[in-house]
Amino acid sequence: MSNRWLSLVCVLAILGACGEDDGGEDPADSPPALAGEVTVLETYSVGDFNADLDPELPTASVAFYLTEGGPLEWNELVPGIERAKRVFLDNGVQLRVSWAVLVSVPPDWQSLDPEISEVPSSPEYLETDIYRHLDELATRLTDRTRDILEAIVWQHPPRADGVPFERSVHVVALEDVPISYFEWDGAWSEQFAPTGGLSFPPYVHGDRIAPRLRGIITLSVNPNPLNRATRVLAHELGHKLINVSHEGIGVCPSFEADGDDLMLYGEGERVASGAEGRWHRERLALSPFLYHLDGDIAVFDNDYRDSGSYRDRLYGDFVVEPPCAGTAGSR
Ligand SMILES: [Zn+2]
Repeated sequence: MSNRWLSLVCVLAILGACGEDDGGEDPADSPPALAGEVTVLETYSVGDFNADLDPELPTASVAFYLTEGGPLEWNELVPGIERAKRVFLDNGVQLRVSWAVLVSVPPDWQSLDPEISEVPSSPEYLETDIYRHLDELATRLTDRTRDILEAIVWQHPPRADGVPFERSVHVVALEDVPISYFEWDGAWSEQFAPTGGLSFPPYVHGDRIAPRLRGIITLSVNPNPLNRATRVLAHELGHKLINVSHEGIGVCPSFEADGDDLMLYGEGERVASGAEGRWHRERLALSPFLYHLDGDIAVFDNDYRDSGSYRDRLYGDFVVEPPCAGTAGSR
């Protein structure tokens, strides 16, 4: 980001992600290595999505990147955008669709690498505290995946809507985006599975993800019937903005669980508040991706105070510590 924006955001942030401003060029302003491989083929009209925006409401900007030969057409994505707008507006947050394009990319970019993780130390956390388990994994992208995603989102006009690049959500449609996870059966084995959507959330990637990719979400061919098509976008935005795994009222955090909450598999859209709701609504309201407009300037009130983990100090008391007594269909 430019120094001007760095300074502005540092003033506005409570604490945290701002580094020292040495007056030099910020690396985030330099084109990524593979930027020249991407061409914008078509820009879609997004004005209708934003006609009813209320300047008084907390807002998150979301940009969309469809890929030529990729898994989604624009008209297939629109119902999911409308549903996501409604789900979040029902919970006091509006989504601003900042940009939507079709880009051409090299065909092999349709398959990203699985994430890289450390082998966890103990199987205990897998059953009792998946957030500690995830902290241990120290998950990160391969250089190839990072370079591909950075090149695609770099096509976005910088700060076109007054929002610094790393404060926007960027949704990229690619054919094959695998997730990796560990199973314990007397020894650890790393498993891989395809995804219909992957949110690269802070509680998994912490500050190991490149700043330009902090807002990245991918949408892919949906292989999982538990993950209903038009709800995928809202659910993945939930991972990113609420910063929790699959959990809900009476359901402990797990990798897979069904229920009525937005953050569970199924058709649910509930974002509950209070301890019973595991503070989802309160955590959403604190998301560093939310801003309000002061004239044309997007003003951000919050940022992560640590790395963005589940227990980041940003969330204060809005953290539920184990043990958790609810049912959980963990794998
Ligand atoms: Zn999910």
